[in-house]
Amino acid sequence: MERWQNILADSLRTPKQLEEFFGRPFPKVPYSLLVPLRLAQKIKDQGLEGPLALQFLPQKEEGDHMESGSGLIDPIGDGVHQKGPGIIHRYRSRILVSPTPLCPVECRYCFRKNLLEEDSPNYRASPSSMKRYLHSHPEVNEVIFTGGDPLMLGDSVLDHYLEALGDFAHIRFIRFHSRMPVVIPERITDDLTEMLKETTQKKRARACLVIHINHLSELDGDVLLGLKKLQKAHIDVLAQSVLLRGVNDNISDLYDLFFGLALEGIRPYYLHHPDPVRGGLHFYLPVERGRELYLPLRDILPGHVLPHYVRDDANGTGKTLAVI
Ligand SMILES: *Cc1c(COP(=O)(O)O)cnc(C)c1O
Ligand code: SF4
Repeated sequence: MERWQNILADSLRTPKQLEEFFGRPFPKVPYSLLVPLRLAQKIKDQGLEGPLALQFLPQKEEGDHMESGSGLIDPIGDGVHQKGPGIIHRYRSRILVSPTPLCPVECRYCFRKNLLEEDSPNYRASPSSMKRYLHSHPEVNEVIFTGGDPLMLGDSVLDHYLEALGDFAHIRFIRFHSRMPVVIPERITDDLTEMLKETTQKKRARACLVIHINHLSELDGDVLLGLKKLQKAHIDVLAQSVLLRGVNDNISDLYDLFFGLALEGIRPYYLHHPDPVRGGLHFYLPVERGRELYLPLRDILPGHVLPHYVRDDANGTGKTLAVI
């Protein structure tokens, strides 16, 4: 096993483990639990009411939604554009490929929290099924690995996917969307860095990583160490964030997040309006409130540091700007 896989194996996964670690009980919720120890320690240091605790520790509301049947199961309409196991094709030029439904952490607000089961075939594309799809879709110039979290795959498995893409001269961008760099920074191994570097240098497809981060306190020294490796290897690193009630729904936290990322050469790309997902409705806020927070940022952040504020619709029509 690689080191990051051992770290993952040592994570907190049961209510009892959470209770022992944090010294207080947690409500029973009908969703999986997973908190790697490094993150658990950060949560403890920040305090159990902090933005990290809210994102990763279970809350009673999750179960309430299940009972009342409120909230959406598929809030962004993944199902509408599903073209086979793990392949979603909504926009003409790019496809989402999900090689695994697994993640290194269970974000309580996750928009796919009702869809990502460990054995879900809907989020398991194989290299060969991906190849089959691309053979008949020359209009696609970008493959976006998502999940779950694509960096849950080991380096040698990931390499199979990258090798498979090498056959397609029309693929010019290869993108990874991942929570891993802020959760288990050890995942940014030298091998992974080398693989992505090679993709960019030898295969004519530019590799890019979009990290998922919602609060500047997620970006610590260990996280930066991993990301700097990629940046040194000329891999573009961008960030996407979700606006979440109680976590970052104030101007100063959003400002700090985007400004702090940009200072490290990580470009804020999207600010997602939260989805009204079943089990995550307690993070939801109205788009009018989002606009009140976002618009003043234009005045205090350089344009290249301000992400697009977007929302998704449950009918699967895709992202639209939440503010114009
Ligand atoms: C968000 C998304 C993408 C990526 O869109 P970009 O605007 O290129 O970041 C691609 N496919 C689907 C289905 C998406 O939801
Ligand atoms: S990493 Fe992404 S897909 Fe996984 S639980 Fe968090 S939000 Fe959901």
